[in-house]
Formats: sequence, structure tokens, C-alpha cells
Amino acid sequence: MTRVLVVEDDPQLVRALVINMQARQYGVDAAPDGATALRLAAARQPDVVLLDLGLPDMDGVQVIKGLRGWTRVPILVLSARAASDEKVAALDAGADDYITKPFSMNELLARLRAAVRRTESVPSVPETTIVETDEFTIDLLAKKAARGGHDVRLTPTEWHLLEILVCNPGRLVTQKQLLEEVWGPSYDGKTNYLRVYMAQLRRKLEADPAHPRYLITEPGMGYRFEA
Ligand code: CA
Repeated sequence: MTRVLVVEDDPQLVRALVINMQARQYGVDAAPDGATALRLAAARQPDVVLLDLGLPDMDGVQVIKGLRGWTRVPILVLSARAASDEKVAALDAGADDYITKPFSMNELLARLRAAVRRTESVPSVPETTIVETDEFTIDLLAKKAARGGHDVRLTPTEWHLLEILVCNPGRLVTQKQLLEEVWGPSYDGKTNYLRVYMAQLRRKLEADPAHPRYLITEPGMGYRFEA
């Protein structure tokens, strides 16, 4: 049974979530505030955490930081806020994905399944080192990319960026995460670097670089590899 920890202070929403998840055979614990969430997470060891960012006792980002001190459990953030910087802060703190309120229950459940699946499919030694799309093939072990049967020459920086995205299929990787990982901690404001290098990658890998199908921009937030 997949155990979900729901961290949400709106009792009506909690009730709806619990009913829908239990109907789909999830085991559900609910916490109305951050302190309870941290305690329950340690006691119950959930498989996935659904976390509202606006909690009565602390900011949801603090809960993420608290959890990330000891667990890699997937965290799906519920955010009522339109401001993307809140979501980016949550993702940078270690959340795996976010969903904006109001959401449909089906959408939420699909995201939940995807978050759980990602942790299940990330063994410490990758089973496969080849990532294939209809357009190009990436060999992570050999560090080679090919398109239409021909090798695509990538610079080390392009490769590093591509590798991070491809290793996180479907997941939004924030600008800050990419910049810090590829260029270093002092580069986290240099979003123009990302625009330049992502454009190069698309030119080399996408059939229509102006309308990318695989290397997707989430405006103001980051990038996503859609497998
Ligand atoms: Ca709330």
C-alpha cells in the first residue's frame, strides 16, 4: 500500500483528499500544520508527501527543508499562490513537483502516481543508460548523443545540462538548480546562460527548435525533459 502524508490546514480539502485516496487504496495520514507533519513523517515513513505551502505554524518551505534533512520522500506541493517564486522556492528546497489550487482530483492523483513512480524507478545503479525519443538518443554511460543515425557533437556544458534534465524525466528542474549544478553556486542569477545553452541544445536535438517537444521551458521557473 502506498502511504500518503497530507499536510493541509483546510479541513474540507483534507476530507476530500482522504476520501478520494482511500477509495484508490492509498493509506492516508493527515497533518493540519508543519510541526505535526514533521512528527508524522518520521513516525509513519510515508511514500509520498502532499504539502500545502500556506500552513498556520510555519511556511511549507520550512517543512520541505526539515524533511530533506533526512529523507528523499517525494514531496508534491499544493500551492494556492499564483506567484511562481513561491513554487520555485519550494522546488529549490527539494520539492519534486507542484500543483496549483484549485486542481482537479484526477490531475492530483496523476501527479501523485508520477511522483511515486519516479522514486520507484530510480535505482542507485541505473538499469538503463540509453534514453530514446522519437527524435534523438542519449547514451548516458558513453556520453553520446545521436540524431537520425548520426552522432551529435555536444560541448561539456551542453552535455552536463542535458544529462541533468534527461535524468529527471518529466520533472521541472529549476533555473537555480541547473545553474548551480553546471556553473557553480555563484552563478544562480545567470539565467541568460541557460537560455543560450538550451537554445543550442534544441538546435542540435529538436526537429523544430522554435517549438521544442522534448526540452521544454517553464517560463520564469526552469526546464523539463518530456520523454
Ligand atoms: Ca493553507
